[in-house]
Amino acid sequence: MSRKRANDLSGSDFSQQRRMMVENQLRRRGIADEGVLVAMSKIPREKFVPEHLLRFAYDDSALSIGEGQTISQPYIVAKMLELLACGPEHRVLEVGAGSGYQAALLGELAAEVYAIEIVERLAQRTRQVLSRLGYENVSIMAGDGTLGYPQAAPYDRIIIAAAAPEVPQPLAEQLAEGGRLVAPVGTRGMQTCILAEKEDGELSIEKSIGCVFVPLVGEHGW
Ligand code: SAH
Repeated sequence: MSRKRANDLSGSDFSQQRRMMVENQLRRRGIADEGVLVAMSKIPREKFVPEHLLRFAYDDSALSIGEGQTISQPYIVAKMLELLACGPEHRVLEVGAGSGYQAALLGELAAEVYAIEIVERLAQRTRQVLSRLGYENVSIMAGDGTLGYPQAAPYDRIIIAAAAPEVPQPLAEQLAEGGRLVAPVGTRGMQTCILAEKEDGELSIEKSIGCVFVPLVGEHGW
């Protein structure tokens, strides 16, 4: 497809690609959480990718969003949201807002979302995209997310969207009792998605699928 043709893709072409993504990349691979599937059928992923990559918006892969960062592969986003199991009563913290795609999905699934991005320029751009799309329950903050955001703690759900050496202590502390935290934990090059649940002040950790994310930097990152 030529560049011109790609940029001429209409809203209905994108909605068809979105339906196919949900069917082929998500349902067929075992994503069964209806809330996640409905949210991913709704959010226009094309609004979160740079213009020159529009024709790849619904590809089965991560895409570059500039500043050396990426928007994650749809399947990984869905898998992590399924593990997170967030509901309409929850307050959520996301570390690594990136393009804002996952923050928008969280905005659909939860009551209140605080998303932190360490690259200031990305944070500014993402804030604009989300406000244009009308997400009033999502706040994008620029800063080091490994420190969490104590002003709005505790969180019922915390999701880290960058590769962490371990769960940062401030995030473990800001997780509510009975809360869940999902993160890619491992080396800089390869990680396992983990689900941590807080009971009696302690995190119990369960491993899920393997994944590859850009590194979590900052005080409690790499
Ligand atoms: N959730 C994003 C994809 C995240 S990519 C989306 O839907 O598009 C990981 C992001 O984490 C990058 O944008 C990177 O800049 C950011 N990041 C890395 N370390 C961070 C930190 N300590 N605090 C906040 N953001 C961080």
